[in-house]
Amino acid sequence: MRKLMIPLLTRCGVVSCREADRLISRRLDAQLTWREQMALFWHGCFCATCRRYSYQQSSTGQRLGRLPEEPPTTAGFSEEAKSKMKARLGGRSY
Ligand SMILES: [Zn+2]
Repeated sequence: MRKLMIPLLTRCGVVSCREADRLISRRLDAQLTWREQMALFWHGCFCATCRRYSYQQSSTGQRLGRLPEEPPTTAGFSEEAKSKMKARLGGRSY
């Protein structure tokens, strides 16, 4: 069904899977235009594969966005807390 529908819809202005993939990737770095968002939306209405890929990419992007810019430090921890952490790490320092 998908193999038949997507080429037909592409002729009607719905983007191909290749173009949807490009838009999904670009959306991680930049805001899509309204037209691009609509193209991706309409493609996703007919293509479960790209819809799933889009979901995975956006959830990964959200997780990466929550990572701190700087690696966590032990500054602000008490010496006792630092000792306990060091003991749990097997005496290694990072
Ligand atoms: Zn697709």
